[in-house]
Amino acid sequence: MTTALATLVALAACGSSTTVGDASPAPSASPAPSLRPPIHQWPIPFGGARKRQMAAYSLRHYGEDTYVLSHPKVVVEHYTETATALPAYNTFAPDVPDSEFGELPNTCAHFLVERSGRIDQLVSLTVRCRHTTGLNWTAIGIENVGSSDREILGDRAQIAASLALTRWLRCTYAIALQNVIGHNESLSSPYHHDLVPAFQHQTHSDFNHADMHVYRTRLARLGCPA
Ligand SMILES: [Zn+2]
Repeated sequence: MTTALATLVALAACGSSTTVGDASPAPSASPAPSLRPPIHQWPIPFGGARKRQMAAYSLRHYGEDTYVLSHPKVVVEHYTETATALPAYNTFAPDVPDSEFGELPNTCAHFLVERSGRIDQLVSLTVRCRHTTGLNWTAIGIENVGSSDREILGDRAQIAASLALTRWLRCTYAIALQNVIGHNESLSSPYHHDLVPAFQHQTHSDFNHADMHVYRTRLARLGCPA
């Protein structure tokens, strides 16, 4: 893929941009290890420079000079707007200014869920990742490979894997069902905040409220161990 194409993919990744209105390092030990689905490790480069950029981003946007993700409170579901995982991986891997805001570090997600049901982990759960404006300080990001909410909800292997991954994460970190959200629901999250005015009303179109109602209903049926 050419750099130009990669940039176009980056621009398209995770739904189209919309503006609404006027616009402790280690995670706690898992209480639900048996729920952990098979996870393929496919890390993107996230070395010292990118971590320093993430800490600077966190300071600018959240007033916290750290790249560490601790005690995450939210899981955000996205879709990639790509047909396969590789273009999404190739969008997140290089640490270049993102195509939408021109900020460093580049955008990313903690996980990709492929149509086959394979789950790829791109970024450690102890590191903040730029996937949802206003929530990157406390949210785990999951990118489901595909082009619409409905496509992913209707893909038996993929949605089963997505739900299994999200169930394990929310049971591990005691994340409330209502805090498993779609990117398009980000502005109504009680955890959403950003110090930069231009970012305070910014969200994307992927995984809207109606489709997340379907997702959460299915997730609720899976439950967490007592
Ligand atoms: Zn998104």
